Amino acid sequence: VGSLNTAEFSQSEDRHSIVSVFLGGDGREKETAFVLTRISRELRGVKSPFISRAVNDKMVACMRTELPEAFSAGDNERVVVIGPVQGIKNDGSFVQDTDIGDMATLEASDIEYLPRGSMFMAGTLPAWAKELMADRGIHVFEFLSSDEFAFYNAVPTAEGAVCLAISNTSFSIFRSGVAVLGFGRTGLVLANTLKSLGANVTVVARGSRARSQAWALGYRAVDFQSFESEPFFADIIFNTVPALVLRSEIISGLREGCVIIDLASYPGGTDFEAAARLGVKAILAPGLPARFAPETAGKILAAVVIDFMAKTWKDLAPKLDRVGGGLI
Ligand code: NAP
Repeated sequence: VGSLNTAEFSQSEDRHSIVSVFLGGDGREKETAFVLTRISRELRGVKSPFISRAVNDKMVACMRTELPEAFSAGDNERVVVIGPVQGIKNDGSFVQDTDIGDMATLEASDIEYLPRGSMFMAGTLPAWAKELMADRGIHVFEFLSSDEFAFYNAVPTAEGAVCLAISNTSFSIFRSGVAVLGFGRTGLVLANTLKSLGANVTVVARGSRARSQAWALGYRAVDFQSFESEPFFADIIFNTVPALVLRSEIISGLREGCVIIDLASYPGGTDFEAAARLGVKAILAPGLPARFAPETAGKILAAVVIDFMAKTWKDLAPKLDRVGGGLI
């Protein structure tokens, strides 16, 4: 997070009765916070590294606070909560800045402090929290189940994956045999990035629709059975499937020097023990956008937050369009 400009706050205009709350986070909230200052009476942070830094920089209208006070607001005010992109776990815990005192967890009773009509966004939310929010008329948005977020995110993810591949191989991606496992949002964008670099891309997908789409876009497309019987064409394998697809039988059939870059969420789709035993380099690579393109990751978060707010709180849409348009 760079140095903050206090003038941004004092010059803010057209503020509505909105309170913005940052719950945890990984530092990529800067862009979102700057946009929200334009419409918020106050920005609050609960274990938020960004707000903590803003308070230290004496940014006006920014405060560190705790749950549940963070969620309370005056009459006719609405609260927007920006939770961590990594999501809130089932026990209510979330990614938080350990330098700011004790750990906090989101409790069912905290949700009751949110005024009706408020908004709660996070990567994912526990089912119990969503049920309570639905009962209280709180608008919920889970970044990680949004197509918009996934497609935006797929671009820095693909670039990070390419960077890891380059730094873990002794050969060029150009003319290499590359397998992309899974052809969802990440697989589709990654295959395109690799093709642009001149790789010979084979898409491995279980669905016939995905395979026909991959074929139509110019890739060789096979199912998992076919891949399992001839995995030795691959110099690099990129996995995007969040299920165990790279089992020891397949790993033992890989050509010497083949590298696996596993992008799927923890624990990935690779038998890492088997890979280590068989001497195959396999890398689990989570969080690539924030690691390789933090600025872009910040803009992506701001773009989806603003988009959801403009769709949900239509009275704010003109102002949000003005500040949010062209963010990404
Ligand atoms: P997605 O759009 O849902 O795509 C997932 C793909 O995996 C689909 O092709 C799906 O096929 C396939 N798949 C799911 N389960 C399967 C199984 N048991 N066997 C075979 N294929 C299966 O998801 P995404 O947005 O591309 O994300 C993919 C993964 O990457 C997720 O785990 C996500 O969290 C992770 N991710 C990681 C990073 C990073 O920085 N490393 C960044 C973004 C996303 P069907 O369509 O047939 O279901």
